[in-house]
Amino acid sequence: MQLVFLGPPGAGKGTLAARAAAKYGFAHLSTGDILRAEINRGTELGEKVKGYVVTGRLVPQEILGAVVAARLAGEKSFVLDGYPRTREQAEFLAMLPGVKLDAVIYVDVPEEEVVRRLGTRRVCPACGAVGSAHSDGDTCGACGAGFVTRDDDRPETIRSRYRVYSANTAPLIDYYRAAGVLREVAGAGTKDEVWARLDAELARLDARAHDNH
Ligand code: AMP
Repeated sequence: MQLVFLGPPGAGKGTLAARAAAKYGFAHLSTGDILRAEINRGTELGEKVKGYVVTGRLVPQEILGAVVAARLAGEKSFVLDGYPRTREQAEFLAMLPGVKLDAVIYVDVPEEEVVRRLGTRRVCPACGAVGSAHSDGDTCGACGAGFVTRDDDRPETIRSRYRVYSANTAPLIDYYRAAGVLREVAGAGTKDEVWARLDAELARLDARAHDNH
């Protein structure tokens, strides 16, 4: 299956996409994770995109398009998380050879909830797990390393990332609805509650994909 996860920053897309990919055997492609890894390794690409990522601005498609095309080449089943974020990117994706999206999963979370979640989000620099300062404390439950705050989860950046989302990415909801591929999953509640809703949707899509083959 070929899926896109759409939704504001802090909707839980990364956690949900990783869980979906593990359960159903899809490749998980997160453009944010790819870019952060390039920055951490100090590559040429990392140097080029650093200023955008740290301040929450969109990396230009001229840079990102080639990265996405290379990573998707030959992948039959994937979950794309964080891409596309603009109409231009959506059109680019649709033109890539072998790409035919089965569904775009829109994880819906209101702005105030996004701001609250991102303000307390912590990430594990060792294993990539995502936690909350509220419920998970200072150390990663998965591997025991100390949690850190993502550079772009600072209060001054959170609101501007939400504005970037509203202006550029939210219009893709209607774009994909019109294309007949949008599926909505309410993102409120605990991680397990949201996962249960998403998993039910994925099971329906999976059954339909098997019927069609
Ligand atoms: P994320 O982890 O998805 O929140 O992405 C972190 C940052 O990476 C974003 O704020 C952007 O600076 C950059 N980024 C990730 N995906 C894209 C994309 N599809 N288009 C442009 N920039 C992106």
